[in-house]
Amino acid sequence: ASVIERERLRRESMEIELLRRTDALRAALLSSVSHDLRTPLSSIKAAASSLLQEDVQWDEETRRSFAVAIEREADRLNRLVGNLLDMTRIEGGALKAEKELYPLEELIHDVVGHMQLLLQDRAVCFSIPNDLPPVELDYLQIDQVLTNLIENAVRYTPADTPIEIAAQVVDEQIMVSIADHGPGIPPEDLERIFDKFYRVSGATGRGTSTMGSGLGLAVCRGLIEAHGGQIWAENRPGGGAIFRFTLPLKVTEGQTHG
Ligand code: ADP
Repeated sequence: ASVIERERLRRESMEIELLRRTDALRAALLSSVSHDLRTPLSSIKAAASSLLQEDVQWDEETRRSFAVAIEREADRLNRLVGNLLDMTRIEGGALKAEKELYPLEELIHDVVGHMQLLLQDRAVCFSIPNDLPPVELDYLQIDQVLTNLIENAVRYTPADTPIEIAAQVVDEQIMVSIADHGPGIPPEDLERIFDKFYRVSGATGRGTSTMGSGLGLAVCRGLIEAHGGQIWAENRPGGGAIFRFTLPLKVTEGQTHG
């Protein structure tokens, strides 16, 4: 009986430990993102209230700028919530890539299309060969990866510099890269930026103090690994950062995690 009792206690204490860890993760997530959630919400609320103000006649251009602000901030909220959900799934081991053979070029153009509000007049150059083979991927997850990488390239680089998106076949894999002409990444942080909540200290991105929770790249890594690929960052010889990820062209059994 005492063996059974001991086993029961052991199992209970393991369960408590698991709950404690989940709770700690939740608390960290909550405190890190509540500010990030509130900033776009305040902007949305302010723009909507202005539009509804009955004693002011806004001209067409001003009305439009409020509507644009609402849409842009709602997009931002959507990306943040997407990252949060993915992070929770990755941490909980519940992430599954629902893969289908898909032309990557089309996905890249879809993502860039959805991001027009953020990109504004930013020059985006593509270097994608016409004969790029389709690849097995989870559309929504790779959309999230590209969105996070492009958002960073916009956020951490000057507005008048272009973003270059390339894809090519390398060793039975497709390699995608997103390159910018910003400040690049301190060499000692090239690996750590993929840790959750990690942000380069003293980074001078536009609005860095009010934006970003340090989740984007951690989510990218989790999603790419669930595809059996790899993701890493490099500094460009001429200045700027380049983020690369690979997706295997030949998916072997057992490569889908989760
Ligand atoms: P967040 O952008 O929310 O801080 P991320 O995980 O997306 O979180 O990025 C982590 C950090 O990596 C950023 O805070 C920034 O310091 C750095 N970083 C990411 N992308 C770039 C880039 N293109 N150029 C320079 N620094 C970058």
